[in-house]
Amino acid sequence: MDRTFLIKPVLDADYPLIDYGKGVYLYDAEGKEYLDASSGAITANIGHGVQEIIDAMQEQAKKVSFVYRSQFTSEPAEKLARKIANLSLPNLNWCFFVNSGSEATETAMKIAIQYWQEKGVFTKTKVLSRWMSYHGITMGALSMSGHTGRRARFIPLLEDFPVIQPPYCYRCPYNKEAPECGYLCAHELETIIKRIGADHIAAFIAEPVIGAAGAAITPPKDYYKVIKEICERHNILFIADEVMTGFGRTGTMLACEQWDIEPDIVTLGKGMGAGYTPIAATLVGDHVMEPVLKGSKTIMGGHTLSANPQACAVSLAVIEYLEKNKIIPEVEKKGAFLMNELLELQKQYPFIGDVRGRGLMIGLEFVQNPADKIPFPRDYQVTERLISLAQMNGLLLYPAGAGSDGVSGDAVMIAPPLTISNKEMEELIKRLKETLQQFFEQYI
Ligand code: PLP
Repeated sequence: MDRTFLIKPVLDADYPLIDYGKGVYLYDAEGKEYLDASSGAITANIGHGVQEIIDAMQEQAKKVSFVYRSQFTSEPAEKLARKIANLSLPNLNWCFFVNSGSEATETAMKIAIQYWQEKGVFTKTKVLSRWMSYHGITMGALSMSGHTGRRARFIPLLEDFPVIQPPYCYRCPYNKEAPECGYLCAHELETIIKRIGADHIAAFIAEPVIGAAGAAITPPKDYYKVIKEICERHNILFIADEVMTGFGRTGTMLACEQWDIEPDIVTLGKGMGAGYTPIAATLVGDHVMEPVLKGSKTIMGGHTLSANPQACAVSLAVIEYLEKNKIIPEVEKKGAFLMNELLELQKQYPFIGDVRGRGLMIGLEFVQNPADKIPFPRDYQVTERLISLAQMNGLLLYPAGAGSDGVSGDAVMIAPPLTISNKEMEELIKRLKETLQQFFEQYI
């Protein structure tokens, strides 16, 4: 019997072996072409095989690939921190590099707790969040995540942090519509803070647009203003988890810019290395670093490969590529094109209950019939079947929603590389339409 070495997500599933990638396409060892409409896990923001990134990798490798952050700093790390500070919000001038989104949110949580300690407050240790959220798979990050499917196995070991409803307008728990609703789901935070006691709460964390657990759930305009105001009034830091939304995915460098709020801490990942290297970051506001600078002068966190020069050089090259080709300013227009096409498909296929999102982060939620919004039974495996049909048709979609809370329906996200052309978007829609038609004929 063959010995098996690689642990794959589903151990007995057959995964195609990818040979190479070019632009928005991936090609497997048998020559089959896949249009990468999910950028992997919303990561390959500039597409595959970009020569400038390969060159930057080589250049840095010739100089030095690794220095340990407790002994040295490096030119790429210094340059990248400066660049990111200049591109993000004016107050976020401190940058802590890590290797994954989970490490970035875990670090954000620890910095928030440390901030209060440096000010002499030792009781503020909870980081509240929302149901239907995902902040990462490490224990701290998972504690903050309202992704019931991913929490289930570890519940006895997790903190029970998530507390409020997401701004899930399609299934509003109050049966109201924004803005007339008065943002009841945001005001819920105040009630919870009063119950728990602000003295115990270090921070509140939220994804500006909910990704893995909610398929691009996009809050109405003033939602985050209400959240931020409540946090400020109760001395609670606001952490924006931009691991998925950052680096232009929703049409601006940070999605927060579109809700006009300034978080105290921001996390970045995914698009930061665009899949060319593992890199992520926690950005920290000047006012959060102030007591640390006056106090212990050190952040208790970090990993062996934090601020790795090779990874930082690649991330710098990704940013230069985004800037040189003016990619982020085009995202809104491309997103609007896809959104319109998807709304047209919704008219033809009413089991698409909702089309939502911002920029090139678009979610489709599926229902048995659009009038009552009742989800398909979980054992219909709608998400899994759609994804597998799409893959047969050479189209990659991202599963987001199904099984994440046992309440909402099946959903997928469409989030192609930001570099996708009009012709490629037409091809994406063509392959998606074929998939929906086959799904309709086979399963509805
Ligand atoms: N935060 C958000 C918003 C994410 O979408 C993810 C991953 O999907 C993470 C954190 C965790 O990132 P990683 O998988 O790189 O650890």
